[in-house]
Amino acid sequence: MNATNAEAAGFAELGLAPELLRVLADLGYEEPTPIQREAIPSLLAGRDLLGQAATGTGKTAAFALPVIARMPADRGGSNPDALVLVPTRELAVQVSQAFHRYGRELGVRVLPIYGGQPIGRQLQVLRRGVDVVVATPGRALDHIDRGSLRLDDVSTVVLDEADEMLDMGFAEDIEAILGRTREDRQTMLFSATMPARLDRIARRQLRDPVRVELGRESAAAEDSPLVRQSGYIVARAHKPDALGRVLDVESPEAAIVFCRTRAEVEELTETLNGRGHRAEALHGGLSQDQRDRVMKRLRGGAADLLVATDVAARGLDIEHLTHVINYNVPAAAEAYVHRIGRVGRAGREGVAITLVEPREHRMLKSIERLTKRRITIEKVPTVTDLRARRLETTRAALQESLVVDDLDQFRVVVEALTDEFDVMDIALAAVKLAHEATGGDIDEREIPAIAEPGGRGPRRESDRRGDRPPRTEGETTRVFLNLGREAGVRPKDLVGAIAGESRLSGRDIGAIEIADRFSLVEVPESSADEVIEALRQTTIKGKRPTARRERYSAPPRRS
Ligand code: AMP
Repeated sequence: MNATNAEAAGFAELGLAPELLRVLADLGYEEPTPIQREAIPSLLAGRDLLGQAATGTGKTAAFALPVIARMPADRGGSNPDALVLVPTRELAVQVSQAFHRYGRELGVRVLPIYGGQPIGRQLQVLRRGVDVVVATPGRALDHIDRGSLRLDDVSTVVLDEADEMLDMGFAEDIEAILGRTREDRQTMLFSATMPARLDRIARRQLRDPVRVELGRESAAAEDSPLVRQSGYIVARAHKPDALGRVLDVESPEAAIVFCRTRAEVEELTETLNGRGHRAEALHGGLSQDQRDRVMKRLRGGAADLLVATDVAARGLDIEHLTHVINYNVPAAAEAYVHRIGRVGRAGREGVAITLVEPREHRMLKSIERLTKRRITIEKVPTVTDLRARRLETTRAALQESLVVDDLDQFRVVVEALTDEFDVMDIALAAVKLAHEATGGDIDEREIPAIAEPGGRGPRRESDRRGDRPPRTEGETTRVFLNLGREAGVRPKDLVGAIAGESRLSGRDIGAIEIADRFSLVEVPESSADEVIEALRQTTIKGKRPTARRERYSAPPRRS
């Protein structure tokens, strides 16, 4: 069976149409993720769904594919057929892109609408007609009230990251929007957690939903005490560089790097080889011959990195593997356990490394729950770390040479130079040449550190998001205020209020993020309580704000 058929089979069994199967094969998706496997058949059958799943599980495709598959063939009117509500502008864009990608062959028209974007363009596109609207609740209501967004034909509503929407004060908006849709609609609700208030909304709004829960796996993790587990939080754009650094510092004897798709495998292999690693790609698109050649190179030591998808790596046994690297957080905690089971065998120490995008931190928590082991969050090696590491390599090489080599033939060179130079200086010049000869170019760009949203561990540094460059150092916390762009709040209002009411100066304040209805301000952890207290006593744009720690940074962590 060739690879394309194999891929199609996994998704085809779920009942998806050939047009969608083709798109998925083109994207290099080799098999459905667990949430896709569980949710898609019921959604295709028209059931409502209550899904407890975090980002990184493949939940977007789990709802987008059935929404697209169920769209009426005679579309073309101007009213949307599906409405997806999301908490943030960032997610609105991301989900729209996903619909666009999956709906390509079927010509699905999708529009993200969120506050902060000029409304004129949105009105224009809405008038021309769209099939799927992905909106933040506030802006969706705006359009509904203006009559520019008509929900009469909406047959599917998706609430994505519903707990975050509640957290941002959108509960009433959501219910108001749902109240304007047809009774016989299909409703899907996805949320990483299920607080009581959300449960009540779900009970009112969903009809006999199928429940899909991920991250509550009962399977016991294999006990592999010899595996050191670390995670690095990095923005997507910096992942290739960050991986290169981590590999430089770890220098694995042999490693397998897991990617999500075929395209990602190919791209990353090329990048790594460009950086001087010896990487081989392994994915479902290779013939048996090609696979054999790859494995031969790896076993023979001609390559030390295997970049692979889960499907392609299944059943492989690589004797001398020292590192398993997850280029992305795996879509299910079991997949993680399965992957890391490849190292730490037969009494040898193994290392499992996971690159985590900031939004994916919750997935990491469910992995920790399943494995009952902590994943230590490490800092991406800095340029200074890399330099230190390279100097150490040079020092070790010199030491070895001093111990084992016969250096007598070079004595004449040193002696010839001692007339004019100090022996120490001669040694320094020799070390420099040796260092440069083994070194290669070192990448001088720093990779911005990102605070772990859970806020644990000692390595928190300022977050780069927001409108201002971060100024804070050391431990920081984000303070949540319930006033945002709609209340006319600008960064300088927040800086003014904080600097005016607390002991902090503008320089102590880090990144500021202003959304439609709330803002996040980064401040030093040690001053967070003082800032919150001060903000509660003040008014901003004539309103008294509610201020608290951002939910994910609050010390008594929610589970
Ligand atoms: P999500 O959890 O929806 O944010 O998806 C996480 C990432 O996984 C996205 O980049 C998707 O493109 C990717 N993805 C979703 N489903 C699959 C799949 N079956 N195989 C490979 N990648 C996938």
